[in-house]
Amino acid sequence: MSRHNPPSVVLIGRPNVGKSTLFNRLTGRRRAIVAPIAGTTRDVITHPAEWQGRHFEVVDTGGMFGASKDPLHELVLERGRRAVEQADLLVLLVDGREGLTPGDREISKVLRAANKPVIVAVNKSDDKRAVQGAMEFYQLGFEPILSISAEHGEGTGDLLDAIVETLGIERQADDVVTEDPGGERRVAGELRVVIVGRPNAGKSSLVNRLLKEERMIVSEIPGTTRDAVDVELTWHKRKFRIVDTAGMRRAGKVSGGGQIESVSVLLTRRAIESADVTVLMIDSNVGVTDQDGSIAGAADKAGSSIIIAANKWDLMKDRGHDFSKVFDDATRRQLRFLDYAPILHLSALTGERTPKLLEMIDRVAVARMMRVKTPELNKFIARVTAAHPPPSPGRTEVRILYAAQTGVGPPTFVLFTNVATELHFSYERFLINQLRETFGFLGTPIRLHVRKRKR
Ligand code: GDP
Ligand code: GDP
Repeated sequence: MSRHNPPSVVLIGRPNVGKSTLFNRLTGRRRAIVAPIAGTTRDVITHPAEWQGRHFEVVDTGGMFGASKDPLHELVLERGRRAVEQADLLVLLVDGREGLTPGDREISKVLRAANKPVIVAVNKSDDKRAVQGAMEFYQLGFEPILSISAEHGEGTGDLLDAIVETLGIERQADDVVTEDPGGERRVAGELRVVIVGRPNAGKSSLVNRLLKEERMIVSEIPGTTRDAVDVELTWHKRKFRIVDTAGMRRAGKVSGGGQIESVSVLLTRRAIESADVTVLMIDSNVGVTDQDGSIAGAADKAGSSIIIAANKWDLMKDRGHDFSKVFDDATRRQLRFLDYAPILHLSALTGERTPKLLEMIDRVAVARMMRVKTPELNKFIARVTAAHPPPSPGRTEVRILYAAQTGVGPPTFVLFTNVATELHFSYERFLINQLRETFGFLGTPIRLHVRKRKR
């Protein structure tokens, strides 16, 4: 099979079984550019994947199976059927905690009718409740059946083995897989920037402004022209891929796992999961809304860097001298956990400070990839814990013996302690603030893990 026509692996399963988690895992989460591809629809997300030099395409059917009583449902089901029709291999994902459900049987009927190879992946096997789960899925009549944990990566290697074996894909000799020591594979140099915000915040205007103003090399990425607006631009030799989620707005609502969430919100969340930098656009006239808070929370959780862009600042001109401060204070109060995100006042309409935004994106992108050398980090730990030792909940005094930075994008640190413990939220926050103060880390969430030192 050629690179231009990779086999298609379609993930199917009820809502909440872990499809999007598995999708991210299979496509290499941090490098995935999650955007609809031409010919597919907004609620089917396709991305190339590779395993040991073998290339294929993974299709996530999202919440399209198992939704009900929804005007969009029929349409969505139809799209799901089409994805199944075009599949070379189907991966039926089920929840090992819940065991075999009527919904799984329903979906299996569709899959049997398709008459294609099916691999059953029993997910969430990390959970104790999932232990005996796998056996009962043999009733569905598909093989192989593999236990996995999409979230923790357990068994996903075996799943990938089974996928490439079933598909019989040849290795591509010219393909060199580079892996960085942190285990993250990255497309060299390309920064994924996702612009999010409520309808009318000015997302499209901003993208248009950026494209117009800078003398940038703009290319529309093949296949993304119709629905999602995915543009690539180069700024000071830095390549940005910008996803404007405005194009994801209109598709109505789909219910999944009992919750009603608009398709646009789902897609926005997925785009954020693969973003290096999320630009949260706020209409300065309106201020921060609950939806902004929840999107920002998702970005923080996904480990994306965040910039708050206060748009329509041209309309705020006559609000007096200290208005910026009043505005920023209010914004910080409402997005309390985003204290690390820079706020930029700009106008997509007039172009005021939009070049500054590109510069800021670049800065936070550099900060999220920064590594602190271990000796430097340990000096820092010694100094900070001497002044403020960690609280000791038990009888033994908790000491942080040493630390290491284990990852970037977002910066991730492991603290080794003398006893098994968890850091109190406020102490963790204190350490993170100290890390920022000492080393920078502008605009990026920071992860801390605690481990007991092995003897
Ligand atoms: P989707 O609706 O099928 O796309 O499911 P998601 O990927 O959004 O996952 C639904 C929920 O299951 C999320 O809360 C995930 O964190 C959780 N989840 C996914 N994979 C695993 C796993 O391997 N183990 C556990 N314990 N939870 C998981
Ligand atoms: P989107 O829904 O977030 O993509 O928002 P649009 O880009 O479509 O903008 C919504 C409306 O706000 C349009 O009427 C824009 O002209 C207007 N708008 C966008 N940016 C600005 C700005 O900086 N200043 C002012 N005054 N209006 C703006």
